[in-house]
Amino acid sequence: MILLDFGYERAATLQQAAAWLARLGDGAHVLAGGTDLLPSLRAELVSPGVLVGLSGIEPEPPRLTADGSIRIDALTRLSSLAHAGLVREKLPMLADSALAVGSNQIREMATLGGNLCQETRCLYLNQRHDYQFAAPCFKRGGDCCHPFPRNDRQTCWSVHMSDIAPALIALGAELEILGGAGMRRIGAAELYTGSGLQPLSLGRAELVRAVIVPPPPPRSGWGFHKSTVRGGLEFGMAVIAVSLQLAEDGASCCGARIAVGAVRERPLRLESAERALVGARLDDERLARVAPDAAKALNPLPHHGFTRRHLLDNVAVYLRRALAQAAERARTGRA
Ligand SMILES: Cc1cc2nc3c(=O)[nH]c(=O)nc-3n(C[C@H](O)[C@H](O)[C@H](O)COP(=O)(O)OP(=O)(O)OC[C@H]3O[C@@H](n4cnc5c(N)ncnc54)[C@H](O)[C@@H]3O)c2cc1C
Ligand code: SF4
Repeated sequence: MILLDFGYERAATLQQAAAWLARLGDGAHVLAGGTDLLPSLRAELVSPGVLVGLSGIEPEPPRLTADGSIRIDALTRLSSLAHAGLVREKLPMLADSALAVGSNQIREMATLGGNLCQETRCLYLNQRHDYQFAAPCFKRGGDCCHPFPRNDRQTCWSVHMSDIAPALIALGAELEILGGAGMRRIGAAELYTGSGLQPLSLGRAELVRAVIVPPPPPRSGWGFHKSTVRGGLEFGMAVIAVSLQLAEDGASCCGARIAVGAVRERPLRLESAERALVGARLDDERLARVAPDAAKALNPLPHHGFTRRHLLDNVAVYLRRALAQAAERARTGRA
């Protein structure tokens, strides 16, 4: 594999990295664990003049804040995230979603920020060796879309594959974004634009600094499922994350957050399904009705050989199971 020629600067702090990115402009790109960016460099999907490395910055361990939220440094390696005592105890869905990523080796290198900011994927885009003689597509600055020939140049149906983003959205997490103009805070879902061409809403010199997850409310439960073909070292076919809260009667739902990833250009919140659950009793009949409607509303993109029909059925089945699991956890208080 041949890497292009590029310069390398190792930042001592995230502020320094952001300042370098601002100064170097479009020619610079930030490198965290490199498990997503290095393959993109090899596929010539990006060709930065300078890589700004973050590996010299030690992440802060996850910690409880004064309001009971948990603050997690964006540079936290996924292996540490998956096994951190505080995260396992208070946010087991987040720990499980980190464990779902790649393999041990990938998780030892990969960071939380890099996972959220990873490139979108489609059969053409990230498979350069199979398409080395094909014309560049819209996303590569070319004039066509190989898997979807009817797309116009504003439309790219590459899919965002993060396993962790849906869990953070279902948990109501926020992100601290650091840039030249200082700090801003956004909801996790707001990181994504919904365009495969430009999937992230970050400015050129902005970095994700930390993830803030609010404490799970009382009588709440979670469900998480990543569908894959072979069950390991594999991107998701669909990733489902659910948080449900029961009212004081212990039977009806008073809060629901549902997010699905790996089926569209961004992880999506299923707000119509959430509305259909809030105020209702969480019995099997209700969950069996809500899940297929939610899958249809999601309108999954066919990707990596999975047809839309297959993804619809997959989401309908596993969403029902994730909802049932979340409801059971909320009832019993078991994590
Ligand atoms: C074999 C293999 C299997 C994989 N399987 C999965 C999987 O199952 N699920 C999954 O979700 N991913 C998977 N990935 C993708 C990738 O490994 C992970 O998403 C990983 O978490 C990326 O983190 P990183 O630190 O290595 O990111 P990097 O490669 O360093 O960066 C990825 C992108 O994010 C940007 N970036 C990094 N940190 C920040 C920051 N703090 N702020 C702003 N931008 C930032 C970089 O500039 C780059 O564009 C896999 C990759 C490989 C090679
Ligand atoms: S879906 Fe996007 S990335 Fe894939 S070929 Fe079409 S334009 Fe390119």
